[in-house]
Amino acid sequence: MSLGEFGLIGRYFQRTALQHAGGNAAVALGIGDDAALLEPTPGCQWVISTDSLVQGVHFPGVYSPFDLGYRALAVAVSDLAAMAARPLGFTLALTLPDVDESWLQGFSDGLARCAGDHHISLIGGDTTRGPLNIGVTVYGEVPAGQALRRSGARPGDLLCVGGPLGDGAAGLAVVLRQSLPEQLDAGGRDYLARRFWQPRAQCELGLALRGRATAAMDISDGLLQDAGHMARASGVALHLQRSLLPHCAALAAWPECQRLDWMLRGGDDYVLLFSIAAADLEQLGDWPVTVIGRVEAGEGVWLDGQPAAADGGYQHFKEPSDG
Ligand code: ADP
Ligand code: MG
Repeated sequence: MSLGEFGLIGRYFQRTALQHAGGNAAVALGIGDDAALLEPTPGCQWVISTDSLVQGVHFPGVYSPFDLGYRALAVAVSDLAAMAARPLGFTLALTLPDVDESWLQGFSDGLARCAGDHHISLIGGDTTRGPLNIGVTVYGEVPAGQALRRSGARPGDLLCVGGPLGDGAAGLAVVLRQSLPEQLDAGGRDYLARRFWQPRAQCELGLALRGRATAAMDISDGLLQDAGHMARASGVALHLQRSLLPHCAALAAWPECQRLDWMLRGGDDYVLLFSIAAADLEQLGDWPVTVIGRVEAGEGVWLDGQPAAADGGYQHFKEPSDG
């Protein structure tokens, strides 16, 4: 007998592996009623963000359901990290072509792993039949007024990233089994594939940046394009220095021009980009952050003193030939 909608929800989404203590403090009522109830912490603001994953656009056709579950949640949580929010929970709008129990088990396990990494609970959702589509809405909170926005960068601030650049794009090349350089060993391949499928949202860094960074965002569409959003929102110029951009050891296997293109224009890195005064950066403590440039009066994004074109960063609804 087929599992049915409610059996499926009960078995794969209402499991204890998807309920985690950190988030439970705020969840007064989770899955099972018409809606969930959340208990806001007094003095906090809710932080809410939604992401959809569509096969062929956000993930390749060949994948493991575990990886897909992990990635679907991780990319959504990354937006909470970027706002300096503490993640609490998430909802899942899932459209499936059919009920494949081994797929559901893997997907649910991947979700649960990511939920465990961030101590958050699945509090509700919707399950429908149709072409595969995964919608995740994440909920977090931040003390009122302490969220980090894209708009606070000030001339004189340093510009930093919270981790290596280019891993997402190189990871996708590995996942798609594109022709890979001979110098890339199995360890490098595994590392990059994992960085693509299981990006680690930088929530702890986001919390550490509260009250210190002046602006923050996560890099999902490529450094240049995302820096352009920050420059515009803040009304400043962002000056980047090519020689300062950090990359992992595995990326050294590719020629410099490919590597640089991925670091500047590749998407899916999910590391934080933030601006911070030098004195506040010194206070930050032991985080793997790298200064990649500085904020100046003016506008736009500059690379080694030249205006940097963001073309190539990912945009939906834009044809490659559009101006
Ligand atoms: P309704 O018909 O009242 O909208 P549903 O029958 O869709 O409710 O869902 C029943 C319960 O199961 C709700 O608490 C809902 O949030 C939860 N739920 C449904 N689908 C999912 C899912 N994919 N993941 C988590 N919870 C789900
Ligand atoms: Mg209802």
